[in-house]
Amino acid sequence: MSNFATYNFSNQRALIRVDFNVPIKNGKITDDNRMRAALPTIRKVLADGGSVILMSHWGRPLKDIEKKPELTLADFSLKPLVAHLSDLLDVVVQFADDCLSTDAAHKAENLEPGQVLLLENLRYYKQEEKGDKDFAEKLSKLGHVYVNDAFGTAHRAHASTAVIAQFYPPDRRMFGLLMEGEVSAAEEVLHNNRKPFTAIIGGAKVSDKILIIENLLEKATDIIIGGGMAYTFFKAQGGHIGNSLCENDRLDMALDLMAKAEAKGVCIHLPADSILADKFAADAATSSSLSNEIPEGWMGLDIGQMAIAQFSKIISESKTILWNGPMGVFEMEKFQHGTKAIADAVVAATENGAFSLVGGGDSVAAVNKFNLADKVSYVSTGGGAMLEYFEGKELPGIAAIKNG
Ligand code: AMP
Repeated sequence: MSNFATYNFSNQRALIRVDFNVPIKNGKITDDNRMRAALPTIRKVLADGGSVILMSHWGRPLKDIEKKPELTLADFSLKPLVAHLSDLLDVVVQFADDCLSTDAAHKAENLEPGQVLLLENLRYYKQEEKGDKDFAEKLSKLGHVYVNDAFGTAHRAHASTAVIAQFYPPDRRMFGLLMEGEVSAAEEVLHNNRKPFTAIIGGAKVSDKILIIENLLEKATDIIIGGGMAYTFFKAQGGHIGNSLCENDRLDMALDLMAKAEAKGVCIHLPADSILADKFAADAATSSSLSNEIPEGWMGLDIGQMAIAQFSKIISESKTILWNGPMGVFEMEKFQHGTKAIADAVVAATENGAFSLVGGGDSVAAVNKFNLADKVSYVSTGGGAMLEYFEGKELPGIAAIKNG
């Protein structure tokens, strides 16, 4: 693979896979973060004197049309992005209304240095998600160089995200700047970490996080478990958890994880106390108790003061921090305090020199909500992809660029 930052794109057509799956309501883009995230990569190619062909998916056209016949392909078009992208780049962006048509090929071939072409939604073709080789090969003919800047879909072995790479020699395929940033932040945490390495795992369900915890048992020194998933661990140890969230079919697994951690010398930390609610609602009455002594009729919706102090101390002593999943129901004001305090602790540790990565799921929403995103080392844009990376899986989009 080549290094994007040092590659000279002069007179080259770069075929860039981006993730422009932005929310659109009534033809208007309601959040353009994913478009903005790709701008540095696009601008670098243009500044070198190259041209850019952008390809992306948007939604799930074929699956949704099957369920709702009133929908048509036009409801999934990338065309509404053209005007905004032109504004962001200060370049008139051309559009090809079918990614494989002769019109697309013609427009691509005739691009002058500094010009940009956006292809219509790749998922108009079922071959995209199937990872069809012929489809990928046809797409590959559009550009001299293949750049993958779509980390959010790196865990999918789709035609445009992985299969296509084999049609380029190693020196003509590479990660874009966004993808490069994601991959190096993830590698810093998983492979080049400084110890103590603390993983903070929260969120609703243990079942969603088993693989990540198991993989982190091989890497981390400390694992903090918060959020709804903590109560399955308390119940498994014979604690009383009232009406708190619990996966009764995962009790053995929780004990098994704790035993494995002990055998490996990894400390698992559970929240000593909890903020309780009498119902799952923003206007619930609140109380507090030890997390393993929650009275009937109450449920734990946030970590308590002792847990905040306990977790903050561990975080402050860490050199590497991975945070995935909130400590409580942070969407409700009464139960956001624990997640906010942990965010503050991660920020303080980062200011003291720790490397902190927030990725995969609602902890990203949480740091954004508390306006702390620019105070941690890295906030991942790829929820599912980052989660799979930390589960220890090889992401097809990364492997394809590296290995073809
Ligand atoms: P996840 O997507 O698995 O990271 O879970 C995030 C969700 O877990 C958020 O919507 C939180 O509101 C929810 N959550 C966190 N803590 C609790 C809790 N103690 N009880 C119920 N839900 C929780």
